[in-house]
Amino acid sequence: MTQTSVRGFDFHCHLDLYPDPAAMVASCARDRIVTLAVTTTPRAWPQNRKWAAGNAFVLTAVGLHPEVVWERHGEVGLLEEYMKDNTLVGEIGLDGSPQHKDSWDKQVEVFGRALATAQRLGGRVVSIHSRRAANEVVKCLGERITADRVLPILHWFSGSIGAARKAAQLGCYFSINRRTLEHDAGLALVRSLPADRMLTETDGPFTAIGSRKSAPADVVETMTELADARGVSTAEMTQMLTANAAHVLEFAGLKVPADTPGR
Ligand code: MN
Repeated sequence: MTQTSVRGFDFHCHLDLYPDPAAMVASCARDRIVTLAVTTTPRAWPQNRKWAAGNAFVLTAVGLHPEVVWERHGEVGLLEEYMKDNTLVGEIGLDGSPQHKDSWDKQVEVFGRALATAQRLGGRVVSIHSRRAANEVVKCLGERITADRVLPILHWFSGSIGAARKAAQLGCYFSINRRTLEHDAGLALVRSLPADRMLTETDGPFTAIGSRKSAPADVVETMTELADARGVSTAEMTQMLTANAAHVLEFAGLKVPADTPGR
């Protein structure tokens, strides 16, 4: 393996929801963390793309978050339009929490359309929200996509080990943040995953380290915690996560920034 200058990968971060998004984008290059900047609405994507322009460490994804589908479902056409120009998609998915029950049918419709579009276009990597909806998300994936055309990443997955196994059979990857490693069920889940399907994330700014909001560089610590959880060395875990990340980016037609010297 060639020497890489990348220190880690944050496969799910809302850079545009921090108080100073441009500073967060700059921090990704400074800290050498490759960051998948997800968006919650298609309308937010062009500005995200501008912030990330010229920064090889920040990769922007276009999404339509299930929690805003109740008021934003009309933007699904715009999502599909922007997906033509972007091989990274997210955040999309389903949320089965009681407060989002009324929008469930719309959520299923929007998620289904986004997946069908990703399948039609091919070579798409999709970051997926599945809170309280793991089984339904896995069902939709089984119906709408094939692993040769779409690479799904289940972000902050909190479903059962059985659901995770089914998802892995469909080609899913799992982006893991520190919150999952704080409780026994999360540790059991993480230990059950295939090693070649694990990725790191922060879901910043929606997670915190003490009183401070998480930042992409926090994935460095997550790699060590994942190594501990799985009983392997940090070096071995880092190598695995780097290989997994490179595979995911390659699927989307992208390269790890180490391959672009001078940026
Ligand atoms: Mn998120």
